[in-house]
Amino acid sequence: MIDRKKFKKRYCKYCEAKIDYVDYKDLNQLKFSLSERFKIMPRRLTGNCKRHQESVTIAIKRARQTALIPYIVDRKNVVDSPFEMIR
Ligand SMILES: [Zn+2]
Repeated sequence: MIDRKKFKKRYCKYCEAKIDYVDYKDLNQLKFSLSERFKIMPRRLTGNCKRHQESVTIAIKRARQTALIPYIVDRKNVVDSPFEMIR
């Protein structure tokens, strides 16, 4: 229960923001579903609906191919908020 405190509210953030199509260029949308090491968060933790999780997965994989998101994060580079690194 303590471990799940961060993900207590379980709702689809993309449905709430009324995002139809998740764009791979928009990192602000993708970061809801990325961990601090840029892994794709599973649906059981984020609470995304199935439709949005699938489109997010495709978008993140596309963003990796276009080098917007790194595939691997070294242990040295892991910081508290990795998205500052991108900006
Ligand atoms: Zn949704």
